[in-house]
Amino acid sequence: MGKITGFLEFDRKVESYAPVEDRVKNYNEFTVPLKETELKDQGARCMDCGIPFCHSGCPLGNLIPDFNDAVYRAKWEKAAQILHSTNNFPEFTGRLCPAPCEEACVLGINEDPVTIENIEKNIVETGFEKGWIVAQPPKNRTDKKVAVVGSGPAGLAAAQQLNRAGHTVTVFERDEKPGGLLRYGIPDFKMEKHIIDRRLKVLEEEGIEFKCGVHVGKDISGEDLKNDFDAVVLSGGATVRRNLPIEGADLKGVVQAMDFLPQNNRRVDGVKTFENEIMATGKDVVVIGGGDTGSDCIGTSIRHGATSVSNFEIMPMSTVERPEGQPWPFWPMRLKTSTSHKEGAERFFSISTKKFLGDKDGNLTGLVTSEVEWIKTPGQRPQLKEVAGTEKEWKCELALLALGFTGSEMTIAEQLGIEADGRTNIKASEADYKTNVPGIFAAGDQRRGQSLIVWAISEGRQAAYHVDTYLMGESALPLKGEGDLPRV
Ligand SMILES: Cc1cc2nc3c(=O)[nH]c(=O)nc-3n(C[C@H](O)[C@H](O)[C@H](O)COP(=O)(O)OP(=O)(O)OC[C@H]3O[C@@H](n4cnc5c(N)ncnc54)[C@H](O)[C@@H]3O)c2cc1C
Ligand code: SF4
Repeated sequence: MGKITGFLEFDRKVESYAPVEDRVKNYNEFTVPLKETELKDQGARCMDCGIPFCHSGCPLGNLIPDFNDAVYRAKWEKAAQILHSTNNFPEFTGRLCPAPCEEACVLGINEDPVTIENIEKNIVETGFEKGWIVAQPPKNRTDKKVAVVGSGPAGLAAAQQLNRAGHTVTVFERDEKPGGLLRYGIPDFKMEKHIIDRRLKVLEEEGIEFKCGVHVGKDISGEDLKNDFDAVVLSGGATVRRNLPIEGADLKGVVQAMDFLPQNNRRVDGVKTFENEIMATGKDVVVIGGGDTGSDCIGTSIRHGATSVSNFEIMPMSTVERPEGQPWPFWPMRLKTSTSHKEGAERFFSISTKKFLGDKDGNLTGLVTSEVEWIKTPGQRPQLKEVAGTEKEWKCELALLALGFTGSEMTIAEQLGIEADGRTNIKASEADYKTNVPGIFAAGDQRRGQSLIVWAISEGRQAAYHVDTYLMGESALPLKGEGDLPRV
């Protein structure tokens, strides 16, 4: 344990943010790091509990008290080793994870929890700065070839683990650069893309081959992939967007969030022209959907220079405190206010969009909403009911649909006869990540549905263990919560 009285002496302190008026002028990350002494104090707050509930809160089983203690003692290299023993990419989770571990932190019962996510980010950043995070190619190669389809966090984690086991790994990605939603979803102001490139360089130096611009199922068939490789990991994400099939949905100006956000990330990356340029500049923008994607649309619209940004959420407003019936250490559905929300968006809850309005040229000019309430009947799912007399018309020239995803694209699955689950994702059990077709595995959002980066990395690691076992009869790769300490 770090400092026995640490949690009594020090208050929780996390990094601060650049002022809104400065940060919205560009797409850079805008966090202001803590000083090293402050970070050590934060590490010292960890109580090294007998049963560290944070472990079970983290889908990777990160060894949190161990790296907190190392940070308190300023043993940063040891902290980086501990962290990387369970997490291939803490620079992604340290920036973007909603930190279920902090909701499960024992200190969180009656105090503010330990700043686990921020400590994680600082450990990995120190590791890169000091040159401790370098390629570690396998000492020996097997004669096995593995294809990974999709280069999001699940595919990258699976690829790195399988390469470490000595297999020859090729990652196929249909986009022009690897990274999945990390690169073409999440805006740069949440994570600048050189953070991905820095890690990809390590993966390439370790011997992983990336083939970008290759759409598996079109440019190369699932059957060819199966024949050319000893095993295949499908980690193509859950990319099928949910629509809003109401009157006026085909008007110019009603746009899917996942057309708007990737285009902007490409713009920030230097792409100058687009066939259908989507800009929020000078427009009244309505973002429909209150999740991460909606929040990212808000921050991006504000940086475009939108006249106004309103955010509609069909669910009622949650409480900031843990709601009743969601006790510690479980993940609570409390009100989340992101940095983008604080940049000037107005949020509306329990509101449903009924129709879009347009002009004679087919351009969006407004929309009509009504308030809704959720009727709860014991033993039944809550029912949505419109509140009579609450119709309202809004001026709007850009409506961004951030309504979530309904499942995965199934072209490869259809080509190979792979079964889907009930939600149009690939059916593969969490016990072994195997599909019904021998040698084909699935991981990440394509298996579990749209989720989180931390889950994608976790699934990639677990799937790699099972692929390795399938190929070799056994595996020395770590399973969840089993640290693999010598590796950085
Ligand atoms: C806008 C947005 C913001 C988000 N913000 C957060 C956040 O802040 N924190 C968080 O934890 N999670 C966030 N998420 C969720 C998180 O990004 C995903 O859960 C995670 O990226 C899933 O990883 P994955 O590897 O399974 O799939 P993805 O990241 O979706 O990667 C799949 C990759 O496979 C490629 N692919 C698909 N089919 C093929 C094919 N046939 N051939 C070749 N390549 C193919 C795709 O092009 C893509 O690059 C966000 C999601 C969105 C949409
Ligand atoms: S990956 Fe997420 S849940 Fe796990 S320790 Fe880091 S912040 Fe917590």
